[in-house]
Amino acid sequence: MLSINKNYLNIKESYLFSDIAAKVAAFTKAHPEKKIIKMGIGDVTRPLCESVIKEMTYAVNEMGKAETFHGYGPEQGYGFIKDSVQGYYAENGVNLENNEIFISDGAKSDLGNILDLFSNDNTVLIPDPVYPVYVDTNIMDGRKIIFADSNEANGFLPLPDTNIQADIIYICSPNNPTGAVYDREQLKLWVDYANKNGSIILFDAAYEAFIGDDHPRSIYEIEGAKTCAIEFCSLSKTAGFTGTRMGYTVVPHLLKFDNVELNKLWLRRQTTKFNGVSYVVQKAALGAFTPEGKSQIRENIAYYKENAKIITDTMDELNIWYTGGKNSPYVWLKCPNNMESWEFFDYLLAKTGVVGTPGAGFGNNGKYFFRLTAFSTKENTIEAMKKFKELFA
Ligand SMILES: *Cc1c(COP(=O)(O)O)cnc(C)c1O
Repeated sequence: MLSINKNYLNIKESYLFSDIAAKVAAFTKAHPEKKIIKMGIGDVTRPLCESVIKEMTYAVNEMGKAETFHGYGPEQGYGFIKDSVQGYYAENGVNLENNEIFISDGAKSDLGNILDLFSNDNTVLIPDPVYPVYVDTNIMDGRKIIFADSNEANGFLPLPDTNIQADIIYICSPNNPTGAVYDREQLKLWVDYANKNGSIILFDAAYEAFIGDDHPRSIYEIEGAKTCAIEFCSLSKTAGFTGTRMGYTVVPHLLKFDNVELNKLWLRRQTTKFNGVSYVVQKAALGAFTPEGKSQIRENIAYYKENAKIITDTMDELNIWYTGGKNSPYVWLKCPNNMESWEFFDYLLAKTGVVGTPGAGFGNNGKYFFRLTAFSTKENTIEAMKKFKELFA
């Protein structure tokens, strides 16, 4: 008789966004006249840029003619888009071989799928608070998880604890939910720890395009990272591809464990279980890497970052402690008056109609914190912050 993967029974149901939706619905029902300003969403809102639409449209028309129709493509991505990604990395001084880059349908799938390469008896180190995907995908495999406390004392940037042996380490920088970003020295400590302990770092760079200063955008900017890190990136937040779906994962040839190149294993895994991203989407993505595309994308990111600045300026004015907002679309603030995050959620909604995300939904260390996102419109962000000031001044 069939028996199921019982590890799935250990996954905690997440009611975070459904609980939020239910509370907002109840509030709207009781106060239909009150305006709701949504600053909780982790999804982009600006449309795809012109350059992406141009390439996408061209590809759609190609698919409609026998001479230019495309069937199955290479599982790991077309050469044209891998060349673009390679060029993009080179701009930041990171030199990659073309076949170290794997095109995917997004960072979330690859972050989960990569675990196929690792035995289930590895110990996993995950920061708390965290993007829930890292935790749940490891629970599904039954791996032992240790949490690295991310808190006000360390600026939500935990550093390696040399007394702990962690085999698989997750780092997300700029971070979701905290918006905190590691600097070079801090990332070097993680890279050195991983190389010394024979660990692998799974580096989530989904928000790298929001970095506007000297903070590293890729872990490969750190010496030694190619022997200990896989990097996951995505056009979701960079180019508004959350509904279009394309990402890329870098597996350097220098990554060897048990005398096996992980690049070979990942290629085998992808060619076996994945049939590639659609031609139309890969072409559309090409439009994000052209000079026009890059400048159009920069405009969208600048729009979000201006919103983030409106939020952080308000926090500065009100003396509210926070991380993020500078190189990130997220502002992670300490709830005023020692409120717990759900209590603050209710209070803020009742008084202002502003909806954010309670930090407790991202882990224990989020209990007194709250996430606001810059993905709203500028007008709504200004209005929300005006209400914030009236409430807490
Ligand atoms: C949004 C996000 C991603 C991107 O996921 P996609 O599957 O590429 O849309 C990856 N990591 C984090 C932390 C994110 O917030």
